[in-house]
Amino acid sequence: MRTGLFIDGKWVSPKLGGKLDVVNPATGKVFHEISAATEEDVDHAVTAARRAFNGEWPKMSGAQRGQYLRKIASRIRNRLDEISELEVLDNGKPLPEAKWDIGDAAGCFDFYAGLAEEYDENRVETICLPDARFTSKVAREPLGVVGAIIPWNYPLLMAAWKVAPALAAGCTIVLKPAEATSLTALELAAIAEEVELPPGVLNVITGIGSEAGQPLVDHPEVDKLAFTGSGAIGAKLMAAAAKSIKRVSLELGGKSPFLVFDDCDIEKAVEWVMFGIFWNQGQVCSATSRVLVHESIHARFLERLVEEAQKITIGDGLADGVLLGPLVSKIQLERVVGAIEKAREQGATVVTGGRRPAHLAEGYFVEPTVLTDVPLDSQAWKEEIFGPVVCVRAFASEEEAIALANDTRFGLAAALMTSDDARAERVAAALRAGIVWINCSQPGFTEAPWGGYKQSGIGRELGRWGFENYLETKQITAYVSDEPWAWYIK
Ligand code: NAD
Repeated sequence: MRTGLFIDGKWVSPKLGGKLDVVNPATGKVFHEISAATEEDVDHAVTAARRAFNGEWPKMSGAQRGQYLRKIASRIRNRLDEISELEVLDNGKPLPEAKWDIGDAAGCFDFYAGLAEEYDENRVETICLPDARFTSKVAREPLGVVGAIIPWNYPLLMAAWKVAPALAAGCTIVLKPAEATSLTALELAAIAEEVELPPGVLNVITGIGSEAGQPLVDHPEVDKLAFTGSGAIGAKLMAAAAKSIKRVSLELGGKSPFLVFDDCDIEKAVEWVMFGIFWNQGQVCSATSRVLVHESIHARFLERLVEEAQKITIGDGLADGVLLGPLVSKIQLERVVGAIEKAREQGATVVTGGRRPAHLAEGYFVEPTVLTDVPLDSQAWKEEIFGPVVCVRAFASEEEAIALANDTRFGLAAALMTSDDARAERVAAALRAGIVWINCSQPGFTEAPWGGYKQSGIGRELGRWGFENYLETKQITAYVSDEPWAWYIK
């Protein structure tokens, strides 16, 4: 386990010597410490990233950069078990989920290696102009120095979603992981060192948001900010970025609906709804936390959902058979328990869950929780809880379901269950969300765009859309005629 900051290809101590405790959320016990970077360290990292951007890295072919990415992918895979266990210790998620994430992170590096290779062929495109005296080409070029700030729910995977496309495109990057979960980002830095990534191309600085994140946001040498996290910090970051017109991409929160129609298989619907809200303890930006069920199957659906929710094994993510681990931190536990209390006060019924399990008093555990009678103007219906808490509500018609689903300031994801293909197509088109899942919830693919409508964010990550985030567009237009140019209008 690493403790230093990774800057300019070296492990260094923070200038002011700050340290942060690393806590295992399953026990509440400190098991390690990491560095707390401050402004001077951030400046050191950004300066290194700028120097690397002025060097060979952006000038290399995509194929050469792709080779580094493929080596990173392969080293992540070789250490999949060990890195996954580290992720569980840091974040709390069940080990099989961590293995899934780490495998996905490796896949993300491989995918962008492929796009880097293709980029050599597609980097320059000739376009037709309506005036034959001119020719024009459009070149795609690496955008510059990237400041990437990520949350704690998928620590290595969120790092991969930003680092892999940025490096593939020829950018250099300073990554600030979340203070609660920095260990696997530090392992990524160690892997970058092993594969001899040129110094300064990837820098990892750990620390708290206000001291290590804010100076990165404010730094004049950062060309682009790539952020995943809460809407409140996203808005702050966007305002700060406006001062120097930094490029910004934001992946923020959601309150995603799941529409369950009366022509679907209830058992399958229950299973996908459970996955949609209890996977990763509900700490998922796209969690389908508002479930709308047709009134004719509402009672049966609710009964089965509650039965299954009560069967979930809760415990330490490293223990066999555990499906629900602890929440990431004491703060998150307090937020989620507070949100459930608030829901009760505002009139919701807690059908199951709602408490910390008595036999797991030390860690940050919360029972899988199902709420009904949730008022439409209450916090539980409108705001992200980011925990294993689902609101279930009946609807009478397709129109009502769509209206309820879209009645939110968020627009990250939406899911629906139906056996009617025409309805699936119609409803998918009517939902105002960046991701719509039909007869499933939450599957993610590196190839497909990820991001939200409305206040769920700006831009898209993953797929070729994620690559575009890290490129600038340059037109190169030439006058090829022998005729003298008359600048005045005849
Ligand atoms: P957060 O916004 O508190 O923190 C995210 C990151 O921002 C952390 O690294 C933190 O240190 C940093 N940060 C905090 N203050 C900062 C500041 N002033 N300047 C710069 N950086 C600062 O969010 P969180 O609680 O860590 O994560 C949960 C949120 O993230 C949820 O709202 C969730 O929906 C969202 N999220 C979205 C996606 C997505 O893809 N859309 C994915 C995961 C999480």
